[in-house]
Amino acid sequence: MNPVSHSFSLGRFHLTSISDGAFPVTKNFFFANTPSHIVSHIPNHYHAPLNVLLIDTGTQKILIDAGLGSTFAPVAGKLVDHLKTIHVSPGDIQTVIITHGHLDHIGGLIHSKRPVFPQAQYVLSQEEWDVWESDPSSQEHNILLLLKNCLTLLPKDAEVFPGVRIIHTPGHTAGHLCVHVNSENNDLLIASDILNDPATLQHLPSHISAEMSPAKGLNTRRKFLKKAHDMSAMVFACHYPFPGLGYINKRKEKWIWVPHEL
Ligand SMILES: [Zn+2]
Repeated sequence: MNPVSHSFSLGRFHLTSISDGAFPVTKNFFFANTPSHIVSHIPNHYHAPLNVLLIDTGTQKILIDAGLGSTFAPVAGKLVDHLKTIHVSPGDIQTVIITHGHLDHIGGLIHSKRPVFPQAQYVLSQEEWDVWESDPSSQEHNILLLLKNCLTLLPKDAEVFPGVRIIHTPGHTAGHLCVHVNSENNDLLIASDILNDPATLQHLPSHISAEMSPAKGLNTRRKFLKKAHDMSAMVFACHYPFPGLGYINKRKEKWIWVPHEL
């Protein structure tokens, strides 16, 4: 059986990458603006990995996004079952940081119109809320509306918890967030959907076709990759092969992905 969770330490924090399963996509959807030779190994229809990160600071359990939820069961929506394998129940989650409002990141927040994580407070950027509030016919709007009473909307970069900082990284969506986790001089950067697949580091204008502003997305991607490299930070990428953990390195003036060794 494939592993469904991978735990590791970052300073005093205990982190776990958890698989939600996979996201059924077409190659055209997932690799817009990508030269075909870079992704010749990818079939036209395939399942993109979907990873979720749990940060346990010792006093807070913070989840970064929540996967697809039951809509795409049984290929996805496995987060809650996989949390149980590390003895975490939905009621233990105190904070959920929502990196952006796409369904593969928020579908798992609601089940039968009720919050899946009943004790949690939810953090979202104000700009991301504005995007979906202006689109009332979308599923994303309906899910976020059900959480409205427990949502904290943040207008700019902010520390959510000591050592856990959100960074506004527009492009994929207007209010997309990356997250910087720091404990005892160890750094981890959460890319969310700034990055779609290790192969496209060879061609940075590549993006998921749902990217709202590819020009801003490219700018954000460039800054993020340079920062991750300069800081020697571990990177977590939701759609990279499980566990989505690794480092950004440079070879012949191009960025490359160096997966974290399990
Ligand atoms: Zn995504």
